[in-house]
Amino acid sequence: MLSAQELMDMEARYGAHNYHPLPVVLAKGEGAFMWDVDGKKYFDFLSAYSAVNQGHTHPKIVNALIEQAKKLTLTSRAFYNDALGPYEKFITEYFGYDKFLPMNTGAEADETAIKLCRKWAYNVKGIEENAAKIIVCANNFHGRTTTIISFSTDPDAKKGFGPYTPGFEVIPYNDIPALEKALEDKNVAGFLVEPIQGEAGVMVPDEGYLKKAYDLCHAHNVLFIADEVQTGIARTGKLLACDHENVRPDIVILGKALSGGVFPVSGVLADDEIMLTIKPGEHGSTFGGNPIAARVAIAALEVVRDEKLAERAEKLGKIFREKIQGIDSPMIRLVRGKGLLNAVVIKPVNGKEAWDVCLKMAENGLLAKPTHGDIIRFAPPLVITEEQLLEAISIIEKSILSFTE
Ligand code: PLP
Repeated sequence: MLSAQELMDMEARYGAHNYHPLPVVLAKGEGAFMWDVDGKKYFDFLSAYSAVNQGHTHPKIVNALIEQAKKLTLTSRAFYNDALGPYEKFITEYFGYDKFLPMNTGAEADETAIKLCRKWAYNVKGIEENAAKIIVCANNFHGRTTTIISFSTDPDAKKGFGPYTPGFEVIPYNDIPALEKALEDKNVAGFLVEPIQGEAGVMVPDEGYLKKAYDLCHAHNVLFIADEVQTGIARTGKLLACDHENVRPDIVILGKALSGGVFPVSGVLADDEIMLTIKPGEHGSTFGGNPIAARVAIAALEVVRDEKLAERAEKLGKIFREKIQGIDSPMIRLVRGKGLLNAVVIKPVNGKEAWDVCLKMAENGLLAKPTHGDIIRFAPPLVITEEQLLEAISIIEKSILSFTE
């Protein structure tokens, strides 16, 4: 058996260096826990960036995968298969939209939404060909494709990858007057927004922002496009984060927890007026809507509903924020979040910063990852029990307090 060090060395030697992981090598997961190659147990407080909302290796989802994998894995969309139709019926009824377009990764689903928005702009709204604009927000994260990074404001994500795709205008997040001004341009077709900016460090907009933005978009015949890849599927305490403000986006982008982290599954929901602007041959993916993805996604969404994961996230999130705010440490600058998508902004003390806190928490049996240097995101699987959450909070507290003892 290879040691943890040998496995890390192997990645460094043979893998591209496009990530900087915490030095932990995992071999097993179950519910809210993961185990490393030496058998050490950890609370997972990242959930693979909110993909594992239903908990690691959920038996119902894994069984759906195994059973389907034994029968039929891939047909491509050149033919029909017996799983896609039931999946499309299930997911459209589940979220209340006319149609669903299946893809695999979050970035592909975002790309799909962008293409749908542009087609709608030309075929329905009547914008002149190639003139459509989509408004996006500063500090966005929608994935890694060349078009998506074209409107990123993060130099790490963008620099050196040009030339960039035109047709996007960046405005500040959580800024209604800026949106109002940008919407004066008649060529604007859509507003693409994360209901909470996850990668930016769990930036929660002011209450009412999404509703006001939605109303403004509608007043200007502009599509409100919600990227719920990270915030969706119960993570923030509602099925969709937009549900907090009773906003029904024109296009919903889903990924990550759509499969409970078992398989890459993503897709886009919209009504006919938008979805039917794309015709056969104009968009697709070999693996999009494959039978395994279809069965896995149905199981994953059933788990969210049957285990009342949104309600759990809402209740446990309140406990989490209250308890973390109660920790008496100069290192805790700010706690923010919704449901079980939370972040703590760390103030460095004695030269120790967020990365050191994460290393200490890992040593004490809890895995979380810093983002943007001083922010730690805390997003456990939503199946975590209250008792487990309290135990995890005591690990976080002990780790943070260890730097000022
Ligand atoms: N959109 C949002 C809001 C995300 O947080 C992410 C990933 O973190 C993506 C899109 C991209 O998803 P993927 O990594 O599956 O392409």
